Amino acid sequence: MSKKKMEELSKKLKYENKNGWKASHAYTDKVFRFAERYKEFLGKCKTERETIEQVLTELDKKKNNKDFFLINRGKNIAIVRLGKENGMKLIASHIDAPRIDIKQNPLFEETEIALFHTHYYGGIKKYQWFNIPLALHGVIVKENLEKITVNIGENEDDPVFIIPDLLPHLSHNVIDEKKVKEAFDAEKMNLIVGSIPIDKEEKEAVKLHVLNILYEKYGIKEEDFISAELEIVPAMKPKDVGFDRGFIAAYAQDDRICAFCSKEAFFDAAKNSKTIVALMIDKEEIGSDGNTGAKSRFLMDVIIKILKAKGKEATLESVGEFLSSSEVLSADVNGAVNPMYKDVHEKDNASYINHGVVMTKFTGHGGKYMANDASAEFVGKIRKIFNDADVNWQTGELGKVDEGGGGTIAKYLASWNMDVIDCGPALLSMHSPYEISSKTDLFETYKAYKAFFEE
Ligand code: MN
Ligand code: MN
Repeated sequence: MSKKKMEELSKKLKYENKNGWKASHAYTDKVFRFAERYKEFLGKCKTERETIEQVLTELDKKKNNKDFFLINRGKNIAIVRLGKENGMKLIASHIDAPRIDIKQNPLFEETEIALFHTHYYGGIKKYQWFNIPLALHGVIVKENLEKITVNIGENEDDPVFIIPDLLPHLSHNVIDEKKVKEAFDAEKMNLIVGSIPIDKEEKEAVKLHVLNILYEKYGIKEEDFISAELEIVPAMKPKDVGFDRGFIAAYAQDDRICAFCSKEAFFDAAKNSKTIVALMIDKEEIGSDGNTGAKSRFLMDVIIKILKAKGKEATLESVGEFLSSSEVLSADVNGAVNPMYKDVHEKDNASYINHGVVMTKFTGHGGKYMANDASAEFVGKIRKIFNDADVNWQTGELGKVDEGGGGTIAKYLASWNMDVIDCGPALLSMHSPYEISSKTDLFETYKAYKAFFEE
């Protein structure tokens, strides 16, 4: 065979995925503009509650008359646009992220420093949270049931909070010689919140000083912490990464990158045959339990509302028919190949940053345990939608077989008898306080979600 023929044959038959940047300059401009809006969104949304607030603000401005939404406990939202056909096109993301929570009786004083006890939330590498600037976000419900919203550490002149690390000179025995898993004790992850005593004589005068500041600012007493949800999150702002500004570093891109893209795609969808729904849920990082997680009944309430809005009665049968005709993108991120740790991946089935939105047919661990495994038919359908819309996409498995693994909300949604596949961009440094995404992947994720809604 001639060299030219071989090249043609290779091009025709071999599968190859592309680096998204190898498109035009016009593409780059569009992508960069989109990324600015994303960074602004991330800067405002550091918690699940704040994400809902932000989406509501945008909904107020953008909502077309026929759209409606349902909120669950300030931590879930479903935005709905009805379609003629039965079933829905659902894009489901999660808006909780790994973080550090404040314990219910948090405040104590040790060596004349006031500290908060903490309890980490989700899969963190504990060492990443020492000695970085942290902010405090959340709500406190007072005895009279008044709800106080807290947000300290984000403004330029706000103080920040820090979990103090140990100096290298003295960490040899207690940290350095231990395995990483054992070296960082969760009970030592206490947050510095004060250092000046309120009085010369008083015992625990630093603690009392902190309580007095909080009383003056919020009118709260120590017991009020018991009915609070206070989250410690990185105080860093979203920033571009690298000389060429191709990447974005920010906290909680798992999974707010998908939440952002799903709402943008929802607002921009020009047409839809099935009902389209952008769903944002909570508690994914700790197993999807509880009344705001993917296992809650909230989605069923959404479906009942949809059926009613379409003039149908919600019966076991009609709900079942609706569900079995529904298609779902479980919108979540994957772990991109880190150039220094390529060995944890199998190169032909790994996802690469800049190579587009990732379709993950199955998750789980070991022999596909605990996995949603999308059918060939459904994967084929999604693949066609993406190809028809010129979306840059790739397939990706989370790491080598038996290397580790993980799950998403896909399997909980699939248990309602809907077709579900995981689909979202790949991140570097996933679950770290400052995760890295690619601007081209961000844009391709938006394009993919929009094409899915519009099909
Ligand atoms: Mn996730
Ligand atoms: Mn996660």
